[in-house]
Amino acid sequence: MLTVFGSTALDTIRTPKKILKNVLGGAATFAAISASNFVDTGLIAVVGKDFPAKYHNILSKHLDLQGLAIKEGKTFRYDGKYDNTLSTRSTLKTELNVLADFKPSVPKDYRKSKFVYLANNDPEQNTALLKEFDNIKFSMCDTIDFWISTKREAVIKMIKAVDAVVINDEEARLLTKEFNLIKCAKKMMKWGAKYVIIKKGEHGSLMFYDDVVFPTAGFSLEDVVDPTGAGDSFAGAMIGYLASKNSTSLSEIKKSVVYGNVLGSFAVEKYGLDGLLRIKKGDIVKRIKIYEKMIQF
Ligand code: AMP
Repeated sequence: MLTVFGSTALDTIRTPKKILKNVLGGAATFAAISASNFVDTGLIAVVGKDFPAKYHNILSKHLDLQGLAIKEGKTFRYDGKYDNTLSTRSTLKTELNVLADFKPSVPKDYRKSKFVYLANNDPEQNTALLKEFDNIKFSMCDTIDFWISTKREAVIKMIKAVDAVVINDEEARLLTKEFNLIKCAKKMMKWGAKYVIIKKGEHGSLMFYDDVVFPTAGFSLEDVVDPTGAGDSFAGAMIGYLASKNSTSLSEIKKSVVYGNVLGSFAVEKYGLDGLLRIKKGDIVKRIKIYEKMIQF
């Protein structure tokens, strides 16, 4: 089993063609639903009493929700706006609401999870939660500019506590105060992460382990409408795939990164969670085959 902890949100997403208001989002939501294509996945998150029943139903179709707390107050809200090229997103508002003083705990059934993903979330909550599991084989975390700017030291502590960090290029630079991505990765490895995966949006990713660098291409797409959650879907696919294989060998980690690129590509083709929600296992297999052809020479 895999456990995913992090934000479950009501997102407002402003793309050049369409504005989505208060739609189901959150880093843990995207990651857990992506992972659920590979393995049974439990979600630990908090929402407010305003969380719509229709969104609860969507989550319950894909995930174990013993870890979902419903608290008095408003659900975490994120508001972001893309530029015309869809390559840069500015954060207009982050309202933590019930997430602000959430004290997460791990349901008894999740404690035996060997694989744990700490999606984008308060780094102090993330680090504290790790201690509640019995015997973790592989843990991975992500973060975002908001936490780097408000709790940088706690982000570094979280990186010390996990096996792998998956982070996008801009955030890696902001966090490490380096520009070159190899230097960024080396710094995060010095802080304690064994694996560092730097996501580069449509251009794929770089995976670092020891002195190994494994670059992957993004899955080439002509029509992208909403990149929100692509990074979370990438990470969810990675750890979901690894959990399904119960392996952390370097070759499986390399394959997991390819699954990451492929699941990320489904996420960006439709608005909000729609891209992830409509795929079937066969769609993933087909896209992996196309990906294989794409990179062969
Ligand atoms: P991504 O597009 O992969 O960066 O992820 C976007 C998701 O992250 C959105 O659905 C947001 O709800 C969520 N998010 C944005 N800011 C934060 C934050 N400060 N903490 C936790 N989750 C966040």
